[in-house]
Amino acid sequence: MATCNLDNCNNACLEDENKCILHCEKNSWYKEPLIGMKIWEESEDKVNDFWNQLRVLINSFRRSFKCFIFNQIIFPKMENNSQNKFNFFDNILNLEFENEVVFNNCIFLDDADFSKIIFLKSLHIDKDTKFDGDVILNDAIIKGTFYFHSFNLNSLESNFKGSLWCKRTVFDGECRINNSNLKNIYLNNAEFKSISKFNNSSFNNLICLNTLFYDTVDFSQSTNNRIQLDYTVFIKYTNFQDVKFGKTLNLNTTTKSGEMNFLNIQSKDNSIGLVDIIENRETARIIKDSFEKQNNIIEANKYYAIEMIKREEELENEKKKNWFEWLVFKIHGISSNHSQDALLALFWIINFGFIGSLFDCFTKVDYVSDFITFHIPYFIGSIVMILAIIGVGDIIKEYKKTYKFFIMFGLYSIYVFNSEDYGLTDLANVINPFSIMTKGDTLNLGMLIFKVIIAYLMYQFIVSVRQNTRRK
Ligand SMILES: [Zn+2]
Repeated sequence: MATCNLDNCNNACLEDENKCILHCEKNSWYKEPLIGMKIWEESEDKVNDFWNQLRVLINSFRRSFKCFIFNQIIFPKMENNSQNKFNFFDNILNLEFENEVVFNNCIFLDDADFSKIIFLKSLHIDKDTKFDGDVILNDAIIKGTFYFHSFNLNSLESNFKGSLWCKRTVFDGECRINNSNLKNIYLNNAEFKSISKFNNSSFNNLICLNTLFYDTVDFSQSTNNRIQLDYTVFIKYTNFQDVKFGKTLNLNTTTKSGEMNFLNIQSKDNSIGLVDIIENRETARIIKDSFEKQNNIIEANKYYAIEMIKREEELENEKKKNWFEWLVFKIHGISSNHSQDALLALFWIINFGFIGSLFDCFTKVDYVSDFITFHIPYFIGSIVMILAIIGVGDIIKEYKKTYKFFIMFGLYSIYVFNSEDYGLTDLANVINPFSIMTKGDTLNLGMLIFKVIIAYLMYQFIVSVRQNTRRK
């Protein structure tokens, strides 16, 4: 009888085929009424024959104490065992692989279920192996390394169409799911006892629940649509450098005792800013804290500002209860972006200076009659102009820098028109932080409030300058 035309395969050919039952095409074995839904009912006998033949192969590996290499095998659906569950090799009493297991250039046409199997050495799934369904490792133990990578990162079409499920899975050795293009990874109560690498990969969902990482975890340079780390524990170093997030990151329930690196994390979408990918205040605080530990003050300040914005959002929701704190936060944000933006503080100082000095021009004291006149038409005209300038400024807000210049220039024009103080002498006097109040000076309430505002803005200006150059 003719044998399979694959190298190193001595199995008999199937009728009308030049390949054996392990290596033959199985496209006619199933019906696919919906994409991703395969019905194998009509080929039940063939499926059983396949698994019987595979057991022969596994036993031959066992006898020769060799590495279990599954080469170019096309797997149908999993075997139906006594409990009516599908699993890989479930009919074998001994669910252990004593030696290294390698899947090389194989195709799994349905789900690949490795549940409860113990791999005493490593499990290596090479980049050319294709999975049409899910890969399930629930309750499995992998004592050696686990390689599951290189799913053609640059191709839109992944070799892996389903999800990787690891429920209560124990990875004793190194776990490498890097350089991959995976749809979903679901880790639930899993344990990673050695280094785990998810770096340089693209995931749709990376969901960790109650998962424990004992050693270093590397997510760097990966792109995720959604990453969720609920009740997950990171004991050693965790690297998120250059990770791109599609949805928000939430570290509220994440426990960490080792260092974390969040350098250069960003949104997948260039138009979405950092503040929108940090879900809440606690997450911003954890990231800020990680930078502070590394003495990276500039990055820490960035996340401090986000922490404050998130606090502001929290206060926004409890505005009625905490209105004063909310107001203080609001002012803090508008005036200097929570002490992060010295130029913003300066912008407000100059503008308040203009407005303050403008009011001075409208009030003219007639020294002969000691009568104070107020130029109402000019006053109203100027107010209208200021509002118009702010309105236009708001419209062109997208061009952040231009709109500030526009507002400043507008206010300058109104001020000069009214006061003819081209050299801005009055303005300088009004905002002069070194001016000393002398005994004879009178101060009305409006002026006092104005001075307090200027003093506050000056303080914010100084703090903001200091924040960005602060060294510990
Ligand atoms: Zn063959």
